[in-house]
Amino acid sequence: MRLALVMLFLTTNLFAQDNVVLVIHGGAGALPKAQMTPALEKQYRDTLEAALKAGHAKSTSLDAVEAAIGVLEDSPLFNAGKGAVFNRDGRHEMNASIMEGKTKKAGAVAGLTRIKNPISAARLVMEKSEHVFMIGEGLERFAHEQGMPLVSPLYFHTDTAWKYLKEVEAARKKKQQAELGPAHYGTVGAVACDAQGNLAAGTSTGGITYVRPGRVGDSPIIGAGTYAENESCGVSCTGTGELFIRHTVASDIAARIKYRGDSLVKATQDALDGLPKIAGGAGGIIALDRHGNVATPYSTNGMYRGTITKSGKISIAIYEK
Ligand code: ASP
Repeated sequence: MRLALVMLFLTTNLFAQDNVVLVIHGGAGALPKAQMTPALEKQYRDTLEAALKAGHAKSTSLDAVEAAIGVLEDSPLFNAGKGAVFNRDGRHEMNASIMEGKTKKAGAVAGLTRIKNPISAARLVMEKSEHVFMIGEGLERFAHEQGMPLVSPLYFHTDTAWKYLKEVEAARKKKQQAELGPAHYGTVGAVACDAQGNLAAGTSTGGITYVRPGRVGDSPIIGAGTYAENESCGVSCTGTGELFIRHTVASDIAARIKYRGDSLVKATQDALDGLPKIAGGAGGIIALDRHGNVATPYSTNGMYRGTITKSGKISIAIYEK
């Protein structure tokens, strides 16, 4: 009996040591509280929890990031994969990237129309090609050759995203700034640290509703929307992509930590505060370092987000800071 207990203790501890720490986001800019019913909020929270658990079950940070983002991409609730928003042509163009902090290897994809899980395509580029960034039809052909099934573009249709398109289209025709909210923002991301202290980060997005076809935001741009290096931190951003590209936000945060010794919390907050204030411009950041420090600042009404500790303790938040 005593032996059995010792074995149980050892196994649980071993597993605990293997588990990753993970932080995720489902986009800055949450549904206005008035539109968030308790039932819908529960769906958001349940999906974030499922993503955290899927990532936590993995033993490397890369696997954790891919698994967590995969769950969010498969949900119609978030602007990535299944829930991707429509561009001006009424089509979807998805972007994603992933980066490994130990090797600084990275993979990025843009202009996807038929890949169910863009984050997995980004990982494929990182691991199975000699490139970092691939786009459009050539990327889809490469992914298919590598055994990734392609889906019909119709798979990505959701009535909610279509409704947002019509709302933004109507507002633009009247030359109004459409109200900020999920029609504007979205994107999912994850940053993980495994037992070896290796960081990984990833981001996946459907872009911005009613955006010009061919436009690419920050999410697939290494150093802008995604970055990971073991010495400093892993980062995934969400928000007005153009600002995050111009200010190379994700790598700027790492540089603040590495060269100036800023804390993770200060580096992320300062990077966000340093973005120019433009109408409708805002966003959020998640970041994690190898000591387990987490930062999740945002400048919108809320940001879907969650963390899971090594021992499996989950916390999820949407509106509260
Ligand atoms: N950053 C994304 C983009 O610009 C959108 C978002 O995060 O909401 O494509």
